[in-house]
Amino acid sequence: MVCPRCSSDSITIIVDQYTETKSYSPGYGICGYLLFGWVGLLCGLCGTGSKHRRKEQHVCNQCGWRF
Ligand SMILES: [Zn+2]
Repeated sequence: MVCPRCSSDSITIIVDQYTETKSYSPGYGICGYLLFGWVGLLCGLCGTGSKHRRKEQHVCNQCGWRF
């Protein structure tokens, strides 16, 4: 892999990790309610939880360009 700016192959990879959280979603709850009644409201909990995301970024050691 080379830098798109200066064509240097001296690249550092930075890994950025973050967590994405989701809360109770009323959309799912209402759908569940229509289909199954009050018990269906619990369906709103289906979409909850957290997701781990990973993002990679490359930094050129030559010119500092991030891509
Ligand atoms: Zn560069």
